[in-house]
Amino acid sequence: MVELIHDLDGRLRWDSYFLEIRNALNDKSSVIILLPDIPDALKARDLLNKQLGIAAQLLYRKQPNELEEWLKIKSIEPKVIVGTRSAVFAQLTNLGLLIIDEEENSVYKQDQVPHYHARQTAIIRSKLEGFKLILGSRAPSLESFYLGRSKGSRYTLVPRKKEYPEVKIIDTRHLSFAESRNKAILSKLLEDALYSVLNEKGKALLFLNRKGFATSAACHNCGKVLKCPRCNLSLVYHYKEDTLSCHYCNFKMQPPKICPQCNAGYIKFSGAGTEKIESELSRIFPQARIKILDDQDLSLENTDIAIATSGVIKRVELDFDLIGVLGIDNTLNRVDFRAAEKAFRLLAGLMALTHKRFLVQTSFPAHHCFQALLKKDVNFFYTEELKQRRQLAFPPYRHLAAVRLRGQKEEKVKETAELLFNKLKEGPRGKTVEVISVNPSNPPKLRGNFYWQVLLRSKNALAISAFLKNTLKDFRHSGIIVTVDVDPV
Ligand SMILES: [Zn+2]
Ligand SMILES: [Zn+2]
Repeated sequence: MVELIHDLDGRLRWDSYFLEIRNALNDKSSVIILLPDIPDALKARDLLNKQLGIAAQLLYRKQPNELEEWLKIKSIEPKVIVGTRSAVFAQLTNLGLLIIDEEENSVYKQDQVPHYHARQTAIIRSKLEGFKLILGSRAPSLESFYLGRSKGSRYTLVPRKKEYPEVKIIDTRHLSFAESRNKAILSKLLEDALYSVLNEKGKALLFLNRKGFATSAACHNCGKVLKCPRCNLSLVYHYKEDTLSCHYCNFKMQPPKICPQCNAGYIKFSGAGTEKIESELSRIFPQARIKILDDQDLSLENTDIAIATSGVIKRVELDFDLIGVLGIDNTLNRVDFRAAEKAFRLLAGLMALTHKRFLVQTSFPAHHCFQALLKKDVNFFYTEELKQRRQLAFPPYRHLAAVRLRGQKEEKVKETAELLFNKLKEGPRGKTVEVISVNPSNPPKLRGNFYWQVLLRSKNALAISAFLKNTLKDFRHSGIIVTVDVDPV
């Protein structure tokens, strides 16, 4: 049996977990709990100790004495394992319960071969072994929502304990003349809201999912954009370190004094990151104490306005008097069928951090991810999004498979990808498998390699796998590496 616990509050699903764990142990069954990362696993272990007096065993890759830990789980005594992704394979005698917390997190999918998804593995295991599977999340994946609502599964909505905040969606296409002329990052409405929070000695949070000062640096004379030599992506300027860096591969360089293409002496920085917001805010509110939160330092002491990227939504205990969301359109606009799901996840996570005011700036105010917030109805988002996924034949209604080709010679990668596309189109793939497209991947270049991909679709994941296995077994081209990712995240 599968149960989805949709925890709008962010903290209450653990009460259900505790109850289920106790029941399992009373039945002399063992339990596995998966967490996205090691710090989360350590926290969960301490919580289990404190709340239930259980000494859970930790299980994660590359831990000290990894092999001994894996051998220890073989004993007959019922036990509780707390681990990360790979712990989904732990072979326990009489496993009664498996919990995947934050099931929507993409870390549960291994991004290297073999591309297994812990959730998918757990679903199959639970069918074969008959244990109970609980998926817990504050903003579930569309796959899990669909599964949780389907026959034979259970869906539990845990309501917010906090009151809902007042929600305002600010349409940035219709800013005043002064606002657009100044290329204002903050709309007047948000600026006024910040003023009143400062007056009342409250705390505000501004969210922007882009680090750095400027998200692009280009020559003002010839327009050359400074890019990472390994990934060909725009370099982000960091003011404090005075460096340009690539957020994909960590390449760093000093910003050049003159343009490498035309030797003009004027490099222009544009596109706002968190550092730019910080400098804007200190200009508008010189008296305010402003701080950029990062994963190392999330304390809010001596802070009036905090600026943060997505890491902040883990801090469910926070409660701000105002949250302003900037640049969510960057997430929403991505060429990715999961873009809306990802944007909504950020919005839902942020909305849990306030019971007062929640302001979002966007140029797509009619989008269902904002409408769901206005209606205070998360199901509105899921229902609309599922409708679109069904129309477009995307997961969870179909399985996708990406065949990725990579190599150091761009032309060769492109040619081979097209060759493979044609081979797959002509191959014996039966009625259920469609070969949809051949395209450069996004991003097309990474760490010195060029990427292309062929996309396939089917109702039947096994049919795709069998077809690909068959077609790819004698598809070899020197200098090209081919990998297959079924149900990419
Ligand atoms: Zn130039
Ligand atoms: Zn790079």
